[in-house]
Amino acid sequence: MSPQIKINQYYDWWFDNALEFLGNLLEEVDVDIEWNSGIAFDSLDEDQVARLVDTIERLIKFKLTYQKTKKDGTQEKANRAYLPTMHKGKYVNFLGKETEEKQKICSYLLSHEEKTGKRICDICGDNYDDDFNISQVSQTIYPMATGSLKSQCGVRKMEPEYHSCPKCALLGSIEWLDDNPFTCDNDNLTNYILFPKIEDIEELHRLKDIIRGSLKQGRNSNIMELFTGKKGGLFERYARDEYSLLLSLFEQMKIIGYTDEWACLRIKGTSATYQTKYSYLEEIKIPNIQSLDRVFSVLQKPYSNFIDKSFTKSLTSNNIDNNLSRENKCLMSKGIVLDDFKTFSRAFQIRQNCILAGIQKEMLYPLIIQWRCKDGAI
Ligand SMILES: [Zn+2]
Repeated sequence: MSPQIKINQYYDWWFDNALEFLGNLLEEVDVDIEWNSGIAFDSLDEDQVARLVDTIERLIKFKLTYQKTKKDGTQEKANRAYLPTMHKGKYVNFLGKETEEKQKICSYLLSHEEKTGKRICDICGDNYDDDFNISQVSQTIYPMATGSLKSQCGVRKMEPEYHSCPKCALLGSIEWLDDNPFTCDNDNLTNYILFPKIEDIEELHRLKDIIRGSLKQGRNSNIMELFTGKKGGLFERYARDEYSLLLSLFEQMKIIGYTDEWACLRIKGTSATYQTKYSYLEEIKIPNIQSLDRVFSVLQKPYSNFIDKSFTKSLTSNNIDNNLSRENKCLMSKGIVLDDFKTFSRAFQIRQNCILAGIQKEMLYPLIIQWRCKDGAI
């Protein structure tokens, strides 16, 4: 017998990743999933709904907060305030509902009960009734939506308002809990989250399982490397931009052959409150993914062993310039990922009287020979 419930995929980077994530969560509570142009499964029983919501509650605490070290050295749990999941200190939409209400929503959506209603969802076109009061679309449901979190609190806006069915609201909200690699550059208050763009949802699921296996679940649950310092302490390494993040992710993954299209969501915060200011999307298309295999055959860890150790210093004062250091790391990572030697080599040019330093020649030379000589392309 074929499964009773089918949720079709959206062919959208955000919602397809969300649907894959829901399928993954359902598999964790022992629901059999058929992956085929969406997900199909049998109705959940009460126990499965309770376990699913427990997992979501646990992930809200884990993924949307981080261990912040205060000036006096003590630690506290702080909210990742730049994510559009909160307004005035409270989670919004599905994420903000009480556990019992979350269970009600999930058992309704994940049961075979027919979904009808007078309204039409602006996202998927299904009919629905707003029984759960989660239909207002804001950046919580879709980060590129124009509706701000303020509009959820009754502040009038000039922007159009969109409304969605509970299924789209649930999916959009839980996608913030997914295992996508992310990083945050506190200096320029920008956050980067990567989403694989793969149309076939079964393939997407397979790839995201590889990503999940590659993540080191540390403080902020973002992709990172743990390394032992000179005095023996354990440290975490973070990439600071989208290309370095991608490169450090590829370092951890064993198979990278078919991951050449990505969506990078950038969220820019404001300094005063660190709340979301802009969200924008960048498409990253890697033109020659095989070139990365060649780079990795020469340098096993190009980001953490080579690029991350670089810095940029002033030729006159010898002081380190943090902005240029960051920019040059990004240029080198971007050059390697996009197989673009011109971009890579820009990092080595003297700019603003500063020069790149900390590069180990025994790593740089083989890389350049591999990159520029093998193809006869000097
Ligand atoms: Zn919908």
